[in-house]
Amino acid sequence: MSFAQFEKSTGLRRFATANLFRRILGPVSIFLALTPSVIGGQTPAPPGPRFVVVLDAAHGGDDTGGHSGNWTEKAFTLALSVRLRSLLQARGIEVVTTREQDETLAAEQRDAISNHAQAQACLSLHASLSGSGVHLFVSSLAPVQAARFVPWKTAQATAVARSLGLAGVLNSALGQAGLNVTLGRTALPVVDSMTCPAVAVEVAPDPSSGETATESLNDAGYQAKVAEALAGALLEWRQNGLSESVHEVSRKGAHAP
Ligand SMILES: [Zn+2]
Repeated sequence: MSFAQFEKSTGLRRFATANLFRRILGPVSIFLALTPSVIGGQTPAPPGPRFVVVLDAAHGGDDTGGHSGNWTEKAFTLALSVRLRSLLQARGIEVVTTREQDETLAAEQRDAISNHAQAQACLSLHASLSGSGVHLFVSSLAPVQAARFVPWKTAQATAVARSLGLAGVLNSALGQAGLNVTLGRTALPVVDSMTCPAVAVEVAPDPSSGETATESLNDAGYQAKVAEALAGALLEWRQNGLSESVHEVSRKGAHAP
């Protein structure tokens, strides 16, 4: 049997095994069906570069967040999450959102969704009627090395160095879009329990618009500008990750027997 035929036959076998398990056990079994133990010790092909973004629209339901007149932070964050999700999906990025409607979510639920996604970037979306432009916050936890078991409440400590990197990419993209950006470190219960590179993005009014705070935040043009800049930054973040993995593969390839 030639190598190509062997590849083809084992590939088909793997596919058939996966299908069989899928039929018997449902979609949950797909991962199991592809593990080496299930496919008789064969080593599965290395997974392709996976890039997932989590968008957490803060507040919701009983928790309105900031509010003034008809404006609520919970509605703003959901609208921004929907807008940003569309932009990212249009560019082929897998997006996981913590909520798609006006519902109350506990911090633990947001973190469970985020950590289950094993994302390369998590944005916790907020809005503020005071201040100007976009405020970026990274957890104030001191960085620690990744360990097998990390306390839930301080899980972000293992990712905080990468979170600072992500904040830097967001900062420059927002700045290039002509937006005022401030960077800060603070204790954020939702972000502090995330295991992904995570940044809280708080959108404040655009002072150059001449509008009131709520008018500025309701301005579709302003929302689009912020969302486009965030999407651009996440694309750049993905490019960085992909170029690293490509280098890793080519380095390994160069030394392969
Ligand atoms: Zn908020």
